[in-house]
Amino acid sequence: MAQSSIEWTEMTWNPTTGCSKISAGCKFCYAEIMSKRLQAMGVEKYKDNFEVRTHQDALNIPYTWKNSKVVFVNSMSDLFHKEIAISFIKQVFDVMNDNPQHIFQILTKRADRLFALHKDLKWAHNIWMGVSVENSKVAQRIDCLRQTNARVKFLSLEPLLGPLSNLNLDKIDWVIVGGESGHKPRPMDTDWVLDIQKQCKAKDVAFFFKQWGGKNKKANGRLLNGRTYDEMPEIELQHSV
Ligand code: SF4
Repeated sequence: MAQSSIEWTEMTWNPTTGCSKISAGCKFCYAEIMSKRLQAMGVEKYKDNFEVRTHQDALNIPYTWKNSKVVFVNSMSDLFHKEIAISFIKQVFDVMNDNPQHIFQILTKRADRLFALHKDLKWAHNIWMGVSVENSKVAQRIDCLRQTNARVKFLSLEPLLGPLSNLNLDKIDWVIVGGESGHKPRPMDTDWVLDIQKQCKAKDVAFFFKQWGGKNKKANGRLLNGRTYDEMPEIELQHSV
């Protein structure tokens, strides 16, 4: 477990590590870069760099946290990667169901596998399920998410690489938008962000603007229309924090 600098969570928990690229949003994968760095530092968990690995010992960690936490599950991997056995995914869900005092936020790009497996998983109110959608080519991930039994459903539109007009936000509780950062960030158009914000407002969906990104993401900040947008799904937070 580690404190996280990600604006929409408090900390990360990685019962699996490693992944492989699946779509345009993966181009400058942060997890891949970090895995390489951690391997070079001699961190045991990352000795196989970005190969997909499960970590049985990490399953105990949420039981040791004293206060309620908001936790991003698998910042260094994708829980629904095909190389992760359903038996291990079920163990991860057992831990989350056993710890209703914490909010667990899972994010995947493997929405088709999520949909294929969702009926075999137990979805308590504290398990928030999200899909990443970087452009319209992968918008069908939202349809997969919508049809799952997850109680809280969210979208991470980051790095936003193109316009996403006419989003179907039915049954979606939360939308996060952010631009790409790093050495060669692909640009995010202000109009794309404003359009998504408008769509969220029209459907009463919580809207979180994470960052503009760019080469200097600190300097570019996270103001939109001169203010920050940090909305989150309200009812579930009141239950658990
Ligand atoms: S799915 Fe996520 S973790 Fe996996 S390669 Fe793509 S960006 Fe990285």
